[in-house]
Amino acid sequence: MGKICSPNQSDLIEQDAEMLYGLIHAHYIFTNHGIAQMLEEYQQGDFGYCFRVYCENQPMLPISLSDIPDEAMVKLYCPKCMDVYTPKSSRHHHMDSAYFSTDFPHMCFMVHPKYWTKWPANQFVPRLNSFKIHPMAYQLQLQAANNFKSPVKIIC
Ligand SMILES: [Zn+2]
Repeated sequence: MGKICSPNQSDLIEQDAEMLYGLIHAHYIFTNHGIAQMLEEYQQGDFGYCFRVYCENQPMLPISLSDIPDEAMVKLYCPKCMDVYTPKSSRHHHMDSAYFSTDFPHMCFMVHPKYWTKWPANQFVPRLNSFKIHPMAYQLQLQAANNFKSPVKIIC
């Protein structure tokens, strides 16, 4: 008959098992079979689509911003705008980001460059009264606001 674990021991065993699963997963997705499987899920949009309007529903891949376990939850990488996003789906919120690594999407596109996508042709242009906003406009407005002295009220 086997030994019965205390509740604390069984929590530790469960944590270790989760960590082991994560490490195996992190290594598996870098194998040819793992990359092929992840690219299939990517094409099906299983990881979600980019929220940016001009990316036109570009599928995303999971990525980590840190290779240290338990550091952060998984993020999603859009190969079109090359930016990362917080997943909207709650099923991604509990995934440890270290299971995917910081370079996973880039490895996929290096191995299978046909899945790589170009920067979108259209980009949002900020306008005010149909005029483009100059890149220095906000900085100049801020300077003007800081230099503005309110008129002194003279009370007789
Ligand atoms: Zn995008």
